[in-house]
Amino acid sequence: MKLYEQQDISIYNSLTKTKEILQPIHQGAIGMYVCGPTVYSNVHMGNCRTFLSFDLVFRYLKHLGYKVRYVRNITDAGHLENDADEGEDRIAKKARIEAIEPMEVVQRYTVDFHTVMHSFNALPPSIEPTATGHIIEQIEIIQNILEQGFAYEKNGSVYFDVLKFNESHQYGKLSGRQLEDMIANTRELAAQSEKKNAQDFALWKKAEPQHIMRWPSPWSDGFPGWHLECTAMSTKYLGNKFDIHGGGMDLKFPHHECEIAQAEACNHENPVNVWMHANMLTLNGKKMAKSTGNNILPNELFTGNNDLLSKAFPPVVAKFFMYQAHYRSILDFSNDALEASEKGYHRLMDAYRSISELTPSVKSDYNIDEWRQSCYDAMNDDFNSPILIAQLFEAAKWINTVKEDKAGLTKGDLDLLQQTMHNFLFDVMGLIDLSDNANSNGEKLSGTIDLLIELRNQARANKDFATSDQIRDQLLEVGIQLKDGKEGTSYSLI
Ligand code: AMP
Ligand code: ZN
Repeated sequence: MKLYEQQDISIYNSLTKTKEILQPIHQGAIGMYVCGPTVYSNVHMGNCRTFLSFDLVFRYLKHLGYKVRYVRNITDAGHLENDADEGEDRIAKKARIEAIEPMEVVQRYTVDFHTVMHSFNALPPSIEPTATGHIIEQIEIIQNILEQGFAYEKNGSVYFDVLKFNESHQYGKLSGRQLEDMIANTRELAAQSEKKNAQDFALWKKAEPQHIMRWPSPWSDGFPGWHLECTAMSTKYLGNKFDIHGGGMDLKFPHHECEIAQAEACNHENPVNVWMHANMLTLNGKKMAKSTGNNILPNELFTGNNDLLSKAFPPVVAKFFMYQAHYRSILDFSNDALEASEKGYHRLMDAYRSISELTPSVKSDYNIDEWRQSCYDAMNDDFNSPILIAQLFEAAKWINTVKEDKAGLTKGDLDLLQQTMHNFLFDVMGLIDLSDNANSNGEKLSGTIDLLIELRNQARANKDFATSDQIRDQLLEVGIQLKDGKEGTSYSLI
């Protein structure tokens, strides 16, 4: 019997605004699509929070024995600077500023994204398709929507006719927005004059002569609208109807609203059973965002190279900090909270490691079966990781009591406790134990560099510049760059 047959998961569905029991379309299998990053800059910790929230979902479903096909795209074209179908393509803009090819931008930041996700021990998705790899599919969808009468062409661009669609469907049902409010929120921009109504959105945009990312289509040389890629790639790999669609809360409107409209216009059915939205990571109470500069990058966190941080934090601690909040709650990032999480993380790891040293008793003072189920209950209740972590802390307390000979657990219960903690700490949350040799290399490295910085400072104080320069230059040769600032010397791995 598979574990999933014993556990009912209820998930908060943003579309119905209620918790619903997950009922897979195909027994024992789950299709999940999550909007991936737009690869025009380094991912920040806010982006990471959303992707780590869905890593938890992916891992838990797999742990229960579901066969999960997890599709997470890479947006490498079509995402303009603002959501009103105006402005430059974000990737093309970066390429222009840096005088490199757009695909160099894409490559650089895709690699950064993968490296960051790997350092958080997030599992790669089953399929990671790109927008530029699916232009043909996107053109086919536009043709289909045009045939259904829900789109129109104007000057080589194609727009989705929201008002027409709304006569027979409900546009706005995910975000709860009214059509009138959408007009009020739309700015007067050049492309708006091509649209029949301000609420319409682009399916295909004719490229201006200077626009370098362009493809031929029946309407013009141009590029697809941002919302289209997700409809194309989700339905291609998961079918016209699939189980779960996820993304950050800020994607509900217009992105996901438009995805629903496109799919319903094409396939005449609601494409997704459960819509999941992860809440925002904030910094100083404001959303972490690329555009405002109000963000912290993973690398700053891992090296401590940011004025807001007192020290470097390993990725696993940041991940644990994030899982101490429920994915639907806003979470504010702070040095104090990270320090508290670091202590909590070590407490759990110490407790887990000491289980193997405990001596079994003839009877148990704690009900481990019940406790194990309460861990599942937490995750079954909309992936409630903070409650799960509270249960694990409860177990850590028991372990310490047994260690002090103030209570006992039988051999069977000790084994079950160890197995369950292992499952939730490492398989479901994907944490790693920093005291494992392989994992402590990062800490050893930062300790070694700190020592070299200290020796270099001493050399400089003694006016021994040959030695201080040698330390700086040789570190640079092996890819470690020292930076001298007002606050002292920091480093980055290049
Ligand atoms: P983008 O690369 O801008 O398309 O964003 C990638 C993902 O990160 C999307 O799912 C966003 O909703 C999510 N995201 C962006 N900012 C934050 C934030 N401050 N907190 C949590 N998720 C975020
Ligand atoms: Zn998307």
